[in-house]
Amino acid sequence: MVLKFCGAAGEVTGSCHLVQIKDMTVLLDCGIFQGGAERHIRNREPFPFDPQIVKAVLLSHAHLDHCGRLPLLVKAGFKGKIFATDATCNLAKIILLDAAKLQEEDAAWKIKRLKKKGEDWSWVSPLFTNEEAERVFEHFEPIPYDEWVTISLSLCFRFKEAGHLLGSAMVELKWKSNGIERKLLFTGDLGQKGLPVLRDPEPIEQTDWLLMESTYGNREHIMNFNECIEKLREIVKETISRGGRVLIPSFAVGRTQEVLYALNDLIESGQLPIVPVFVDSPMAREVLRVYQRHRELYDEEAIKKVQSGDEPFTFAGLKLITTVDESKMLNEFEEPCIIIAGSGMCTGGRIKHHLRHGIGNPNNAIVFVGFQAKGSLGRQLVEGVSPVRIFGEMHEVKAKVYILDGFSAHADRKSLLQWASNFVNPPTQTFAVHGEQEAATALVQALQERGWNTTVPELGQEVRLT
Ligand SMILES: [Zn+2]
Repeated sequence: MVLKFCGAAGEVTGSCHLVQIKDMTVLLDCGIFQGGAERHIRNREPFPFDPQIVKAVLLSHAHLDHCGRLPLLVKAGFKGKIFATDATCNLAKIILLDAAKLQEEDAAWKIKRLKKKGEDWSWVSPLFTNEEAERVFEHFEPIPYDEWVTISLSLCFRFKEAGHLLGSAMVELKWKSNGIERKLLFTGDLGQKGLPVLRDPEPIEQTDWLLMESTYGNREHIMNFNECIEKLREIVKETISRGGRVLIPSFAVGRTQEVLYALNDLIESGQLPIVPVFVDSPMAREVLRVYQRHRELYDEEAIKKVQSGDEPFTFAGLKLITTVDESKMLNEFEEPCIIIAGSGMCTGGRIKHHLRHGIGNPNNAIVFVGFQAKGSLGRQLVEGVSPVRIFGEMHEVKAKVYILDGFSAHADRKSLLQWASNFVNPPTQTFAVHGEQEAATALVQALQERGWNTTVPELGQEVRLT
């Protein structure tokens, strides 16, 4: 078997690994590189393999850093199937179309600016168009969890619950080498135990080779989900008693649904009064529909809720906003309220308009529920920078800023090690992927102390395993 690391090696984005087993070549994920100009350029480079020889893609989940280069793969001549769970196929469609739209808008804006300056604009193009994203959908092949699927005489695979996002899966590959059965396990992204709605990541007891994510390989979450709910209750209560509004920057996929689940609990149990909650994102609405269509994937607690007649994401006071006009009207809304909008790191999207309008009011609160990358407006706010630039103007930060990190969909260091302890014997070799260098190295060290043979692979590195 030959393994080649074509992304998420020494970093968290661009998840993509090539696996060659006998006559079969498959790809584990095909994600986009994110964060900074250098990574944007990398997305436009040719794949470090011939896309035409790839027979299948096994997609772990729908986040863009795992599926975002699929349109480029298809464009480059990939003809095979893209296997994923049904929920992943449905979410990936929404995510890829949204990304195409943003890229087309971005390119159009750049062209306009260059034309105005009288400069050459012929080199500007979106990374992929709406049409190119749609071409990916013909390749999707939905597969249920836990079912072995044969993709060639020599190779089969199955999906196991990863507990990170609706439909998220680990990929288990199985084949025979000299009459002996061999296994390779790719974790995709592993979820944190106890997240609402999602089932916990499944324990796995045996594999020969392991590709393990390491996003939080060097960190532990400060709060768990229940502590986050309690803190959210306090923040909302205080803010509405001051007559302010609570602004929650949030990713439309996954995180927004978790926040709604928490608010549903607080409001329906009477711990919070009914207060207007606006989800200002057309994408979040579509994602919510997918969540409602795939109730079979909920955890026990959420299933019980549904069976007792409760809708875990809908409650009195909730309003889903789609049009720009409705979004603008929120500026005139004078009562205390909660507004959830993207982007999660305040790098774009409707949340920036709400921040411009509300950041200077000491009665308001801004609540961060996700990771804030270096260079983002969100990062400046959590680090206490003031004033901050929004749409070219400086704004004094008078609203109160809070961080609730227990909403994270990634297992932290402790949970990663706990999950790894399920293996009866350590895998022959483990590769720590999907982590910044320090995080991946920290996980490797911890596993080595437990007797594991573990390394952090380099981008482009190829290993031959027998
Ligand atoms: Zn993910």
